[in-house]
Amino acid sequence: MPPEATTRVFALLGDPVAHSLSPRIQNAALAAAGLDGVYVALSCLPEDVPFLMRGLARAGGGGNITIPHKATALRGLAARSAACERTHACNTFWQEGARVVGDNTDVYGFDSALRGLVGDFRNGDVLLVGAGGGAAAALVALLDGDVGRVTIVNRTPRNAQFLASRVASLDKRVRIVSGLPAIASESFDIAVNATPLGLRDADPLPAPIDGAPGYRAAFDMVYSPLGTAWVHAAEAAGIRAIDGKEMLVCQAAAAFERWWQRPAPLDAMRAALA
Ligand code: NAP
Repeated sequence: MPPEATTRVFALLGDPVAHSLSPRIQNAALAAAGLDGVYVALSCLPEDVPFLMRGLARAGGGGNITIPHKATALRGLAARSAACERTHACNTFWQEGARVVGDNTDVYGFDSALRGLVGDFRNGDVLLVGAGGGAAAALVALLDGDVGRVTIVNRTPRNAQFLASRVASLDKRVRIVSGLPAIASESFDIAVNATPLGLRDADPLPAPIDGAPGYRAAFDMVYSPLGTAWVHAAEAAGIRAIDGKEMLVCQAAAAFERWWQRPAPLDAMRAALA
């Protein structure tokens, strides 16, 4: 339905945002659910993020936050979820009572998409490549899902140490290794790519497919309309694999449910990406 005076306004705040698929997903969900809302993307400066969040939320709407503002967004919140606390990031905000509240639905999105790929991952042995915001969400979801062990490998090992100490201090299930060669003889249940490797055609694969190290399932946070090179290579080698589209849809669905207090029309949201 076209916007009216009563329409609730939601915005993605980031820089850049022009490439984002979130408006497509959320507006498809609003249309499918017949709701009086609109979702737009706003490129903005970090210093404007808390003000925009408060303005949108207090006007009855809310929104999402993307790179590079997910940590800055914490400053716009009066209350934050445990997922925000643990990942030190907010990707979703809205108003409850007089307060602007926030969550990090990337944690839910990762958990949900991973369960779709492998089912229960309790006691699983996971290789996590990367140590940025996406890796933080994955690490929280994995630990909360009673994973057996997470091995983190990152281009800058110091950042992996920082991630582990911030998200999982003293958790003996988390170990850091210096690089993939250090674990070449090992095998894992699941490998997760939480780096941008795969966004460009010239990128190397985030983890090799030759069994050194080995893994039985591959979860790529990077997404592309036809799937990523790592996903294609993994599938050709008989490894179950998905790219980041399902995580994107699931984090968007969780945001929708916080804003609208009703189940998200997942099929319409997935179809919007097809
Ligand atoms: P981020 O916070 O900037 O972290 C990027 C991570 O990748 C860091 O660990 C970085 O290592 C590493 N890295 C960057 N360039 C690399 C390279 N050329 N070779 C090896 N490692 C490299 O980014 P993020 O938010 O975690 O996002 C990472 C990727 O996941 C992006 O492509 C993003 O779009 C995707 N993502 C998808 C979803 C989804 O819903 N599907 C959600 C979140 C993220 P250093 O520590 O050495 O810099």
